[in-house]
Amino acid sequence: MKSLLEVENLKKYFEHRGGMFRATEYLKAVDDVSFEIKKGETFGLVGESGCGKSTCGKTILKLHQPTAGSIRYDGVDISGFSRKQMLPYRRKMTITYQDPFGSLDPRMTVGDIISEPMEVHKLYGREERENKVMEITELVGLTAEQVSRYPHEFSGGQRQRIGIARSLALDPEFIVADEPVSALDVSIQAQIINLLYDLQKELDLTYLFIAHDLAVVKHICERIAVMYLGKVVEIADKKELFRNPMHPYTKALMSSVPIPNPHRRTEQIILTGDVPSPVNPPPGCHFHNRCPSAMERCSAEEPELVEVEKDHFVSCHLY
Ligand code: SF4
Repeated sequence: MKSLLEVENLKKYFEHRGGMFRATEYLKAVDDVSFEIKKGETFGLVGESGCGKSTCGKTILKLHQPTAGSIRYDGVDISGFSRKQMLPYRRKMTITYQDPFGSLDPRMTVGDIISEPMEVHKLYGREERENKVMEITELVGLTAEQVSRYPHEFSGGQRQRIGIARSLALDPEFIVADEPVSALDVSIQAQIINLLYDLQKELDLTYLFIAHDLAVVKHICERIAVMYLGKVVEIADKKELFRNPMHPYTKALMSSVPIPNPHRRTEQIILTGDVPSPVNPPPGCHFHNRCPSAMERCSAEEPELVEVEKDHFVSCHLY
């Protein structure tokens, strides 16, 4: 399968002022991250809150300017592109947000919300835009009658459908789904995941699916990258990752995923210690202060992400 997106050594640092008499520090939200996403694939990016996964997604879309590294979309390096150069890519690459209420303007009707991106990009005449709104509304499982309603009249799941509809307005190829089900009840999560899956098949979409919960990505992703403190620590095919997690952090995340089988029990690995600050990450392996397998070498030497088994990459001195 052809790569649609290649991210290489991507960094996004934010300036952090610690006080009047302190030198400027940098919050290393994304720190030297590399991966590729194939056309038509759903690639999962997983990790605890604050690990940099959402910043990574937004930097790929150039909603944040990258500090360093390259982002190749369909073979073109867009990392240094200006706003004007990015315009054609704004149609191809889009985002759907976690908070389906906060991300929708309460003063706009559903129809206006969906048609706004088309107006901004000056696409289609009025009638064609209205037809397009109806078509997308139906695609995401809402009714024609709901187009004239306001966001507050909908449930959380329906609002997420509106958010997804808006992200489809420009006929994108690639969508960053930033925690699209985290704010929803478990029963609704499955409906939205099924919707994203069906849309992918129907519209030939490629997803970067961001989540903090491995149980969620298990159902929709083909390959998964695990992030910790701004870095990718493991990448593998979904089945391989669940069968054979290698990085101690992935093992800990995995141990908290419920298994629907009363005869199979796994012991939950409780991580001790606080997540360090991304302003002052620990030297060596960033995970060493919480890792149950840490060795002397781990606090001195940073491990590289290497291919330990076929298509299974891990950054840990144990391998
Ligand atoms: Fe643990 Fe060391 Fe591996 Fe880091 S490099 S995950 S501290 S064993």
